[in-house]
Amino acid sequence: MLIQSCARTDRGLLRDGNEDALLCDPKRRLFAVADGMGGHAAGEVASAMAIERLESVHPPHTAETLTRAVHAANEAILAAGRESPGRSGMGTTVTILALRDSEAVWAHVGDSRLYLYRNQQLSQLTRDQTWVQQQVDAGLLTPEQARVHPRSSLLSQALGMPEPIEPETGRLQFYPGDRFLLCSDGLTGMLRDHDIAAILADHASCESAVRELIERANQKGGTDNITAVLVDLPATH
Ligand code: CA
Repeated sequence: MLIQSCARTDRGLLRDGNEDALLCDPKRRLFAVADGMGGHAAGEVASAMAIERLESVHPPHTAETLTRAVHAANEAILAAGRESPGRSGMGTTVTILALRDSEAVWAHVGDSRLYLYRNQQLSQLTRDQTWVQQQVDAGLLTPEQARVHPRSSLLSQALGMPEPIEPETGRLQFYPGDRFLLCSDGLTGMLRDHDIAAILADHASCESAVRELIERANQKGGTDNITAVLVDLPATH
């Protein structure tokens, strides 16, 4: 099966640097997005470390191998923070997608997202690990209130934090024509799900879809770094 994949990351319009990092490796069938945080460019270090840790992840992928890599990245980031005071408190999200046989598996910490676009429908496969999502789950905020809430980016879990992490994992059978999108919140903060679905519907080409996603997020303000990794499974004819 020939997988088409492409990826882009963009500083956006307001940030000085880019603290997002990504992996797009169709050969190993491994894809990831990490969104770093922390002063003095430490966020960049944390997200890069999360992606580097995936170097050691090879097929066959399982939820366990991905989870192990997430924990190893967390340990490495915590250790680096202890060794270098300027980097203490740095953290990152990480969302990893791996493909095996006819199955997609993922592991996820933070508020980057994995979406599936199938039959013109976009569904979010990961759950945002944020304070506002917890409020939505408890019935205290509506999804719309959560979206515009001043604390919308406050994470309930991230790598590099003192609290132990519990990566969310999932798996799903994939089918010809499925498209998987990994992205940082710089994309989803600017574009609604229906905007993303419309762009994917309009752009059959992987490259042009990703380019358009980034461009549209910048047109809507580009307030954060924007990263998108798109994985297209061939359609059958
Ligand atoms: Ca971000």
